[in-house]
Amino acid sequence: MRPLADAQRDVLAAMRPLPEAEVGLLDALGLVLSRDVVAPHDVPPFANSAMDGYAIISADTSSAPVTLRVLEDVPAGSVPTAVVTPGTAIKIMTGAPMPAGADTVAEVEVTTPGTGAVVIGESVETGRSVRAAGGDLPTGEIVFLAGERLGPHHLGVLATIGVSSVPVRRRPVVAVLSTGDEVMPPDTDVLAPGAIRDANRPMLMAMLSELGVDVLDLGIVPDDETTLRAALHEGAERADVVLTSGGVSMGEYDLVKQVLTELGNVDFWRVAMQPAKPFAFGSIWGKPLFGLPGNPVSVTVAFEQFARPALLTMMGARRVFRSRIPGVLAEPIETSPYRTVFVRVAVSISEGRWLASPSGSQSSNVLSALARADAFAVVPVGIGDVSSGDGVELEMFRWPEQRTMEEVLR
Ligand code: AMP
Ligand code: MG
Repeated sequence: MRPLADAQRDVLAAMRPLPEAEVGLLDALGLVLSRDVVAPHDVPPFANSAMDGYAIISADTSSAPVTLRVLEDVPAGSVPTAVVTPGTAIKIMTGAPMPAGADTVAEVEVTTPGTGAVVIGESVETGRSVRAAGGDLPTGEIVFLAGERLGPHHLGVLATIGVSSVPVRRRPVVAVLSTGDEVMPPDTDVLAPGAIRDANRPMLMAMLSELGVDVLDLGIVPDDETTLRAALHEGAERADVVLTSGGVSMGEYDLVKQVLTELGNVDFWRVAMQPAKPFAFGSIWGKPLFGLPGNPVSVTVAFEQFARPALLTMMGARRVFRSRIPGVLAEPIETSPYRTVFVRVAVSISEGRWLASPSGSQSSNVLSALARADAFAVVPVGIGDVSSGDGVELEMFRWPEQRTMEEVLR
């Protein structure tokens, strides 16, 4: 059996980054920068007020309270015309440019307005409530490095500095198909004896869209050589990556293996992991192919450990593996010391520690237990059984909303 990390290294080494593309700001969500982004100007572009108040000279307030003559009123979007000199002030709104001569803003809360004048009630130190030009990002600073994956806040920063056409690696297209004569469309009303509904394809399609890739749905392919060959051809032709599920284990009827072998450079791996030991990886017409197992939990684990980091690598990301946090097991678990075991656990915080409990049966067909889980408790090779209270690494794949309004108010 191949150690998991070796298998992951081989998969990632086979990935080539997709070509660069320029996409519109909102189309860049989830994609990865292909070039460094540099601030073309200061952010903020000009020194401005952090508060509604009065732009003043700090020294004028050394023996507060003091009355200052108000020269003008500057709302955000306007530009001051007067210069603040000793004994004067300019009324200023949040975000409006600092007038020349002023070094400080006295917030409205410490002032009392008069006619043509204002009383500053306390001494205000120099620079208070002033946002310096370039205080967020100075001109020429590297804002984000190539390899950064773009989330909503990155898009906000890019908007701020006027990057409307974003240099990224283009969005991958991933073809997905399910195999198996027993596998029926999810909208099947009444199942014939021996049939089940297709869980893998909708699940994979959803994981892929969460990742921000485009999906090509190739449907369900029966265990029939000709149909399977045609579907794989279509996938390799129209997509960047092909994902199949089922048919890669030892079963006699696993035609997938046979067809994959004759079509391309596909290897069948036995990875020292549980679940998802059988796994096929290779290429068809130069396009990477992931032959995921059939059992839905194995599908997810193989997707998470191989396909997801591989896709992120193609997208140009530097960091491709999910966060792991230290946790503690709430219950003992029996695992094989010969495999890296991914235990499906629900996670909660208790006395400042992340506590993990198995979320149900650990059989690789029991998808409901995976749906109730937040993380994989990862038990490395060489450990075997773990006791309640033992430390364990938690690979988080879900950070759900957990607090109710009642809990917030408590
Ligand atoms: P296989 O490796 O093709 O023998 O599949 C292993 C197990 O996974 C069998 O119990 C299959 O019925 C099940 N399975 C395969 N494909 C799917 C699917 N798309 N949705 C749900 N279960 C599946
Ligand atoms: Mg099958």
